[in-house]
Order: sequence, then structure tokens, then C-alpha cells
Amino acid sequence: MAEEEAVTAERVIRVMPETLANKIAAGEVVQRPAAAVKELLENAIDAGADEIEVTILDAGRSLIHVTDNGCGMSSADAQHCFSRHATSKIRTVRDLEHIETLGFRGEALASIAAVSQVTMRTRRRADEAGFLVRIHGGEVKAAEPCASRPGTSIEVRNLFYNVPARRNFLKTPATEFRHVSDVFQSLALGNPRIAFLLRQADTEIHRLPRPRSSDFEESLQERMHALFGSKVTDNVVPVCQQTSYISVAGFLGKPRLGRKSRSEQFLFVNGRSVRSRALSHAVASAYEGLLKDRVYPFFVLYLSIDPGHVDVNVHPTKTEVKFDDERGVYGFLKTVARKALATSNLVPRMDDAGFRIAIPVKDRPPVRRGPADGGFARDAEAPSKLTIVPRTTQMQRLSDLLYSPISDSEAETPAGEGEEVEQPAVETLLWQLHNRYILAQLRTGLLIVDQRAAQERILYERALESMNNGLGLSQQLLFPRTIEFGPADLALVKELKPELVALGFSLEAFGGRTVVVRGVPADVRVGSEEEILEDLLHQYKENEAVLRITGRDNVAKSMARHASVRAGEALSSEEMRTLIDRLFLCKRPYVSPYGRPTMVQIPMEELDRRFARRPS
Ligand code: ADP
Ligand code: MG
Repeated sequence: MAEEEAVTAERVIRVMPETLANKIAAGEVVQRPAAAVKELLENAIDAGADEIEVTILDAGRSLIHVTDNGCGMSSADAQHCFSRHATSKIRTVRDLEHIETLGFRGEALASIAAVSQVTMRTRRRADEAGFLVRIHGGEVKAAEPCASRPGTSIEVRNLFYNVPARRNFLKTPATEFRHVSDVFQSLALGNPRIAFLLRQADTEIHRLPRPRSSDFEESLQERMHALFGSKVTDNVVPVCQQTSYISVAGFLGKPRLGRKSRSEQFLFVNGRSVRSRALSHAVASAYEGLLKDRVYPFFVLYLSIDPGHVDVNVHPTKTEVKFDDERGVYGFLKTVARKALATSNLVPRMDDAGFRIAIPVKDRPPVRRGPADGGFARDAEAPSKLTIVPRTTQMQRLSDLLYSPISDSEAETPAGEGEEVEQPAVETLLWQLHNRYILAQLRTGLLIVDQRAAQERILYERALESMNNGLGLSQQLLFPRTIEFGPADLALVKELKPELVALGFSLEAFGGRTVVVRGVPADVRVGSEEEILEDLLHQYKENEAVLRITGRDNVAKSMARHASVRAGEALSSEEMRTLIDRLFLCKRPYVSPYGRPTMVQIPMEELDRRFARRPS
């Protein structure tokens, strides 16, 4: 009967018009300006260019302009390249198994043109004139001969102008810029023989000349120097190993280049920049004992492998790959990295038992820890960082303020909150357990306070308070510090400047990529300015990505986490007392800003029950 209905009913299923299909597909290929930059750069590289310029305005939202001196296109191809699945790079299914170009899906230009206003000029070297195509929201507005230099120039204006939902979803200019800069950096590292230029409006962000040396390792070193400076190139060790199945070349950062995130790990497989948790873990495990927990090595590594052994068509953005022998690649990379570190005398002891192919259980990539469990290693030996300020009158006033309502933007109320906990009496003896918990006697039972969660709560409220009331206490530095940032972090520092100033930082842009720090919040250890700012930025980015929080709330949470991250420290009873007092002065004392409980109460009845004793 369903069949009959289908025959008589009106046809409701239609094939979408191509412009609509492209607009939908665009969502997968270009989620943000950086993704468009990546596709355009990859096309320029595939076109054999050795000079590529990128200009962006407004972090790529209003303009992305990529110019290359590559092979160019004929007038016919220039019109055709915006059609879906138009590609010159593969023709047969067999080709798909041997991809040596960066592009192959033939959907980037179609997708970009569907959601922006594109003007392309292109010319093959042998042709007299070039050809111009203008296409808005997938509709061709112009296609005509034009004057043009050999190569291709594509201007993408007003990305997502016709997809407001997507446009609204974009992050702040600093964040979008950071993504563009990441994409640019990794493609520039992946192709050290090509000259690159990145401009934002009139400012040159990176000018990367063609290397003087024709040797790959040297050209890579020059490229790293141009991108990261001698801080990095002075602190890397070379890696080089070939087998019949796979080879690897590149550099590993010495432990002192360890970063708080994996954002400075550059891995290329057959020239394609990829992300791989497993391989990143393989390299990190070679540093065993050389890096602290949650510190990640810097590396730039190029793997070459027969394209038939690796599948690049796993995801539309082409940043994931699959090897037919994942474990083999893992073992190879780990062994080679160990050997490289050992040769440079960085690893004291090494078992170089050849390439181990099996992955021992303990070496398996770790399960990602969520933000709620703190995710930090509790390191009892870590140097003491938190300063517990005695109750001066200044602090008193601050804590008075904590009683007044603050605009609290925290989300859910975790379980356990709401039930009042009595504060331990002043004279109560306090115990510290494993530098982690504080135990106190309550009239009604036992109170256990998680030291770090408590510190985070206190610092978080204080940071919010400082920002909302401009009360951040600042200590001026005797010797102002000049700190150099990468372009992306610099943009973030500028964006967050009002919040940082309110917290007690005193900073000024100092030309180029440097910032002068003249003052820091009162409870920051002098001498750790650079570290704290870097930590703060890193935590901010992570909070933004994982918890999707921004602005003041994020700054306050980042500050709280930074200041308490080394909280596995021994506290004197005076310090424990102050901590508990100040915790109870908080507006929401029972939960850390990241949602963990700060304290647990065990009533006497519970203890009695456990000891099978009748309540007295
Ligand atoms: P893909 O790169 O996956 O083939 P794209 O949509 O990115 O798909 O590009 C479609 C086609 O347009 C490419 O296969 C190539 O032939 C041509 N093309 C795109 N950009 C350039 C460029 N900068 N120079 C020369 N040809 C280009
Ligand atoms: Mg492409």
C-alpha cells in the first residue's frame, strides 16, 4: 500500500539545485576563515607556486586574498573550477589510492564560492591574457578575459555573508586570526622551499623568503628560524631515519622548549599537515622523564610513506590520516625520537632494542581527561607558588566585597551545593593529608577540603571581583619585563588587555611582537611574569575551546587555574586556617569554578554507621 501511495502522491523528493548543495557542503569544508585560507594555500602549492602571498582583513572575515605564481588555469578551467567535484588532480578511483597533491576532493572552491563573494584572476604563463571570474554566493557574475600576471589570484570577500548563522558562530577576531596564523605556519613549515608572505591589513605578520640552502634539513632550519626565531632553532635536535617502508626527517625540541599545549607540534605525512593523537603520543613518550606532566614537546616531523599505505580521505578537511600499520608507525616514531634525543645526550638511559612494533599497554595514547577532573597532575615536589596573603585590612575589605552579590556567570549548580556546611571553629586543629586535602573537625563531624579546588574558588572570585570593580592590586616591577609573543598570542593579549589590566597587570605594546610588563597582580610571584602570561593565554584558549567560555569569566577561571596549578604544597596551619576562612567568605564556597566540589562533609552519624557504633 505504501507503494501505491508513492505512485499517486506528488513527488516530494527533489535533487537540490547545485548552489544549495554547495552551500550545505560548505559547512563541512569551510567552517571558518582559516579553513578557506588552508584550501586556497593548498591549491597554490598544488599549482607548483614558489611564491605565495596571503592578505587578510578583519581576521579573514571581510577579505582573504591569496596570490600565487603557479601554473594558472585556462579560461575553460577557470570557469569550471568552481563546480562541485571539479578537480584536475584525480581522475580514477585508483588515483585516490595514490594521492600526492594536497587537494583531491574538488570541493573547496565550489564551497568557498557558495558562501562568499569571489573574484579570481588567473593566467597560464604561455597565454597572452588572463581570465577573470566573479562569483557571488555560487552565482557567476562575470567571466571575461583580463590582464593578469602568470599565476592565480583569488579574493574571497565577506565569507558567510549569506549564511548568517555561520557568521554569528565565528569567534573574536583574535581567535579567528590565531586559527589563520596556525594554518599559515603549518603550511609554511610543510613547504620550506616556497616563499610565503602573510599580511593582516597593512601589517606584515610573516615574511618567509625562499631558503638559501637547497638541502632540505637546512632549508627547514631557515624556515623555523624565520617563523619562531633562534629561541627555537638553538634548541632543537635533528631526526633522520629511513626504512623501506617509511622515513622520517625533521627536528625535535629540547625539553626546555616544552609547551603547555600540543599547538607547536607539526607533523607532516607526505607533505600534508596532519593531527594525530597517537603519533603525537609516540613522540612524547620518547621524552619520558624529560618533561613534566602536561608539558608537550615541540617538534616538526616529516613522515614519508608510500601513498598506498596511508589513507588521506578520512575527513573533508583532510587533516586526519590512517595508516595500514598504525602500530608500526607508532613504534618507529617512538624509537627514532628516542634515538635522536639519546644521541644529543638528553636521555640518560635508553633501551635501543631496534624498532619495536608492538605498543606496550602503558604506551597507548591516554584517554583524554575532561576539564572537570582538574586534569592536572598533582605534583607534590612542585615549587610553592600560591601565596596566601595574610588578612590585612586590604584583604578584609576585599572579603567584605565577596559578600555583596557579584554577577556570576557560572553555569550549573553541582550536586552537594545548597546544604550548608558549618565552618570549623577558630581553634580547631587542622590536618593536611598528602599535601592535597585539609581535614578539620566540625561540631557535626569531619570536614575535608580539597586544597586546590578551594584555591581555585577563592582566586576565581577574587579575579572576577577585581575585574568588575577595578580593584586588582598591582605590584610594580622594579625592572619592567619585555616579553615576545607570537602574532596570535599578541592579538589575544591586546584583546584581553582591559581584563588583564583590571586584574593588576600593567602592560604596553612595545612595537613588533613585544609587550612590556610593568606590573603584575599582587599575588603573582615576581620573576614569573612571562610564565604566568603564557599560562593564562594557554588556559584561556583551552577554556574557550573546551568549555566555550570567553571574556571575563574565562580570564578569571584561567587566572584561578594558573595560580593554583602547583597547589600540591605543604601548608602551615596558619595558611590552612586562612585558606578555609577565605573559602567560607566566597559567594559559592562549595564548588570550584570548574565544577569540582571544594569540600566534603562526613557527618558523625556516617562515621558511626561505618564503625557499627550506635549513635551516641
Ligand atoms: P581540489 O584542490 O580538491 O582539486 P579545489 O576546489 O580546491 O579542488 O580546486 C579545483 C581545481 O581548480 C583544482 O583541481 C585545480 O585544477 C584548480 N585550481 C584551484 N586553485 C588553483 C590555483 N591556485 N592555481 C591553479 N589551479 C587551481
Ligand atoms: Mg583544493
